[in-house]
Amino acid sequence: MFEFLFRLWQRLKNLFGANLAFAPLSESLHYKTLRIEELPDKMEANTIYVLGEGNYNWSVGMICPCGCGNILHMSLHKEGRPHWKIMWHNDGTVSLSPSVNRLVGCKSHFFFERGRVRWCKQ
Ligand SMILES: [Zn+2]
Repeated sequence: MFEFLFRLWQRLKNLFGANLAFAPLSESLHYKTLRIEELPDKMEANTIYVLGEGNYNWSVGMICPCGCGNILHMSLHKEGRPHWKIMWHNDGTVSLSPSVNRLVGCKSHFFFERGRVRWCKQ
């Protein structure tokens, strides 16, 4: 019985190892989408916060993906300038358009597509 469990464990370990080896390392991190009414006091990295209520979304918040620690706010108000459009995908991720271009601080410029950050080359 113990030997059976041991073998099973070995097999699982092998499977897990194989999966790790095949994981695409170049792919950027997948962001978690959270839909809430207010930004939390402590925001998490790799999470995009969609602020809204009912059928209405008014803004998007996230920690700058460059690592500078700044919190980015993107207004979804059509009257606001600038403002962004948000698209929801079936897998629960979102896309923003146009790109996010910080004119101050770290000057990050990136597209947010399907829960992933795609950096723009300067
Ligand atoms: Zn930054």
